[in-house]
Amino acid sequence: MNHPYKTRAGGATVTVFVPYDCRNNCPFCINKQEYADCTGFSVDKIIDSIHVIDDITPACDFVFTGGEPFANLNSLQRMLDAVPATHKVYINTTFPVQPGCSAEEMLAFTERNRDKITCINVSRHVDPYVEESPDEVVAAIATPKRVNCVLYLDYPSDELKDFAERWRKWHIPIQFRYDYTETTPENLYEQDNDPILQDLKSQFTYMGLDGCRMRNGFHFRYKDLHMTYHKTLPYSTIVETGEDGVTYDILYDLLIKQNGELHSDWTGVPLDVEKYRKVVFEPYDLKVLDGTIDF
Ligand code: SF4
Repeated sequence: MNHPYKTRAGGATVTVFVPYDCRNNCPFCINKQEYADCTGFSVDKIIDSIHVIDDITPACDFVFTGGEPFANLNSLQRMLDAVPATHKVYINTTFPVQPGCSAEEMLAFTERNRDKITCINVSRHVDPYVEESPDEVVAAIATPKRVNCVLYLDYPSDELKDFAERWRKWHIPIQFRYDYTETTPENLYEQDNDPILQDLKSQFTYMGLDGCRMRNGFHFRYKDLHMTYHKTLPYSTIVETGEDGVTYDILYDLLIKQNGELHSDWTGVPLDVEKYRKVVFEPYDLKVLDGTIDF
């Protein structure tokens, strides 16, 4: 079906897959297989696509992910430099321990780019799957930062409070994440039968919920630490007929792949760039649905 595109005011978030890999094999990784064959990977082509998107939606958010964005600081710098200051920029990283690039060099990079980067999201899990840099290093990142923690399979529930204390010490908020591949429209807002949500509610103070058609966040307080439990669907297009009677593909995320290709969904759908130039905007439907999320 060839529907016109609609997206939220400001434009769909653009996730950029850096064209170089990490050195890890996390069991829940959905990106790893995309790095098995690096043929055609190109920083130049990615930068061309960043310019295309900037031309259409000059205030959308960019998220750099991988692979490992911090595995090649020169390439990351080139891509960051291609994003004008009208955009918010997020980086998902393990802030790796890696040969040939010290923690000091990575920290200096964050210092040099502190005006370009909105937040660095550092993956840390209750069960570590990668060699972790010391928490002091994460705390020394010069930009705002957050810890992303996937609660995967039979995660050790009895270690959650210690994990919260570990990051509370550095005033770094935590986003717990559900395994995306398991999320469906039916269970996105399910509460009673979500064991992770019930577990978090039993250990921390539930404060409120915000969400939209595509994703949500249950907000918790632990002492003075803000934590969220994030769920999102494993795709990013919703087909819906608007009040104008027109059926739209409503785009939440766009992707720039490692070879610079633009996709309109995580499921391998290429973006029709000329169609996106005519995208219809709607107000962002992310709303506070319960309680408070500002505390
Ligand atoms: S560090 Fe990230 S990209 Fe690498 S294997 Fe783990 S989840 Fe996948």
